[in-house]
Amino acid sequence: MIRTGADYKDSIRDGREVYVNGEKVADVTLHPQFKPLVDIRARIYDMAHDPATRDAMTVTDSGGVNAIANALPYSQADWWAKRRAADLVMDTFGGVVTRVGDETVGEMWSLFDGAEVLSEIDPQFAANIGRHINRVLTEDPFHISANTDPKGDRRRPMQDQDPDMRLHVVRETDAGIIVCGAKFETAAAYANQAYTKPTIANWGDDDLSPYAVGFICDLGARGLKFICRTGFAGRASAEDYPLSNRFDEIESLVVFDNVLIPWENVLFYRHTRAASYVYATLHRYSAFAFTQRSLKLADMLIGAALFNLRQTGLDHLQAVQEKLATLAIYREGINAHLTGAIALAERSPAGLMMPNQSLLYAGRVLASSQLPQMMQLARELCGGQIGLTPDAASFAHPDTGPWLEKYYRLNDEWLAEDRRKLMAFARDLLNSDYAGHRLSFQLFAQSPPYAHLAAVYQNFDWDGPLAFVKHAAGLSDRVMGKETLTQHNSDTSKWFATQTAR
Ligand SMILES: Cc1cc2nc3c(=O)[nH]c(=O)nc-3n(C[C@H](O)[C@H](O)[C@H](O)COP(=O)(O)OP(=O)(O)OC[C@H]3O[C@@H](n4cnc5c(N)ncnc54)[C@H](O)[C@@H]3O)c2cc1C
Repeated sequence: MIRTGADYKDSIRDGREVYVNGEKVADVTLHPQFKPLVDIRARIYDMAHDPATRDAMTVTDSGGVNAIANALPYSQADWWAKRRAADLVMDTFGGVVTRVGDETVGEMWSLFDGAEVLSEIDPQFAANIGRHINRVLTEDPFHISANTDPKGDRRRPMQDQDPDMRLHVVRETDAGIIVCGAKFETAAAYANQAYTKPTIANWGDDDLSPYAVGFICDLGARGLKFICRTGFAGRASAEDYPLSNRFDEIESLVVFDNVLIPWENVLFYRHTRAASYVYATLHRYSAFAFTQRSLKLADMLIGAALFNLRQTGLDHLQAVQEKLATLAIYREGINAHLTGAIALAERSPAGLMMPNQSLLYAGRVLASSQLPQMMQLARELCGGQIGLTPDAASFAHPDTGPWLEKYYRLNDEWLAEDRRKLMAFARDLLNSDYAGHRLSFQLFAQSPPYAHLAAVYQNFDWDGPLAFVKHAAGLSDRVMGKETLTQHNSDTSKWFATQTAR
């Protein structure tokens, strides 16, 4: 089934308790800070019906027509199709939206891969996993991700601080589990469901814990409160801040005040081994869509810088070209990792097609860790005028307009209005509150940097370099030890075995 934008909007008009900037939001689809993103998400749903875009946005199989983003990947062609669809969305809107479903739904496919392992730990919930995988495909919900608890003072063991610092089960009923706590979640106030699971945790020697719980949370459930970060839309004119006003994806502190999670939505419960396993494979698919957004960000950096340099005629200088080349190398580095991850895709334990794990995770680190330097380079190439240009109102004012017309017109191709627009775009991309926030998003929204590096460590095939150096240096077989020259590290069951042995 594929929903329409109207279906989606109706689905989030469910009486949910949303607060922003000290205000209770009556209708999240109409509130000026949420409306731009709700409209984009609705339009993505409509793109699946629009004759001009539906072929790219949907896939037809024996089960009918489904959103391409939700379809489980079985082949490299499936990944190319997903990549094309995500590009089409960003090209259509002229900007980057990340947390719109395709970047989070892959967490469910990791669960599909893990179903067998999880049912070995606790068979009680195996059927729920299968049903939810299917439900995402057939009901087309807007699905997001919830991992991060407020966590509190981590010097103290969990039991020695306010227990709600981490989401936990407070009691069981016939209908389900009752949970208390809170999570930080992008897009929660206007999404349908969140795959909710523990954040990265040191479980120590505990096998069982009320904190080791994972479930699909219906975001319309009673007892949830969405306390949102104030949005950027509407703070200043859209002419001056074109990205802030259209592409701000608002996060919420989602408070769980005794929320009932029906048993059929519980995916694992009490088992710390299950929680560790789930975290180890969480981004196996979804890191692709996340990293693809960085490619578009890189295009925006290059485009803004190069247009500015062409306007001012500085692009012919060799030193400037070298800086542009550095931006291009960053862009092509991400492109190469994404492309290589598809070209060398791997079969998952459940038979799905995973992007090559080592290349994908290395690409995610490249994209995120280099972004601050690349933004600084683009800022440098755009020059100081992005920080100095007056707002559109001054260009329109009869007293100041003629002066700005004089000083912002460059030649017959580049009139003052286009220069103003480019400066406004570049300011919002590089200098605004929104720009800084996006940088934080790229840093943290799919776990913090140390978790990205851990994923590289766990998935890189260390055996290759070791074997080469063993041969090159003439070392004996003894040096390889037991830990190496085994199966590829991306075999999750091996990783799981090493984790649980600790
Ligand atoms: C814009 C934005 C959007 C987000 N969206 C979501 C979302 O949709 N869903 C969601 O679940 N979360 C989301 N998050 C939260 C994000 O996942 C967390 O911020 C991130 O996991 C870090 O957790 P923390 O903020 O509690 O930092 P802390 O855990 O306090 O860590 C702070 C820093 O301490 C260091 N550190 C901490 N622990 C370790 C360690 N074990 N090893 C090495 N260094 C360590 C690292 O430098 C780390 O960055 C979002 C965050 C941002 C900024």
